[in-house]
Amino acid sequence: MKKNFAALALAVAMAATLAGCSSSATETEAPETENTEAEAEAAGDSAFAGQTLIMATNAEFPPYEYHDGNEIVGIDVDIARAICEEMGAELEITDIAFDSIIPEIQADKADFGAAGMTVTEDRQSQVDFSDTYATGVQSVIVPEGSEIQTIEDLSGKLIGVQQGTTGDIYASDDFGDENVQRFPKGADAVQALVNGKIDAVIIDNKPAQVFVSENEGLVILETAYAEEEYAIAVKKGNTELLDAINASIASLKESGTLDEIVAKYVTAE
Ligand code: GLN
Repeated sequence: MKKNFAALALAVAMAATLAGCSSSATETEAPETENTEAEAEAAGDSAFAGQTLIMATNAEFPPYEYHDGNEIVGIDVDIARAICEEMGAELEITDIAFDSIIPEIQADKADFGAAGMTVTEDRQSQVDFSDTYATGVQSVIVPEGSEIQTIEDLSGKLIGVQQGTTGDIYASDDFGDENVQRFPKGADAVQALVNGKIDAVIIDNKPAQVFVSENEGLVILETAYAEEEYAIAVKKGNTELLDAINASIASLKESGTLDEIVAKYVTAE
């Protein structure tokens, strides 16, 4: 029943290196002619220099992307900003429903999707994914004192999920459509749980921790439901952008910037 993905060990190792930095990477101001080869490489050959890249996301997924006043902030936003800075590109963010992100990329309305998006086989047939930059764990939230103590206990219970997420897909597969209630936002599912309308919520661990800390009387089961990897999505066949994103991710990992970005948003657990 549990989903274990092949690259789990690797992903866990990666997640461990994933703690945070400020997003303000140095801009490549030097005129093109003065660029060293190393700089050009770091800037993904600068193929996107001067361009504006549109990132599609769903800013309801703290700490990866969420609203802070009028601003959209979070780990993915800082990573995307750092990637764009490395490329010398401008970043524009479009905040849409989670399950619209892939169609938006396919329709060329967004250049890439960064939304704590899990790499799945089905999605891989629709978009191309970058190298992974974080690990996610599908967690189960229940009210304190719930009789649900294991994944198996979810059988026959009403499970809340965010529509179109892997939590939705797995829960529907494992426990049946009729036992799954879909909400536009994870926070709405958590609210329904607080109000006793559903028995549990399945959602990624980091937002789960945020939602539990914001609501009294909820706990996260110790047993994880599924382990997964997050990556950035681009249109199928857009290797130029994918290569540039991968080059940036590698350099952000190597410089420690990726770790610093995560540390900025994830305080000691
Ligand atoms: N990681 C989950 C998925 O890819 C949820 C992502 C999200 O809600 N932003 O489906």
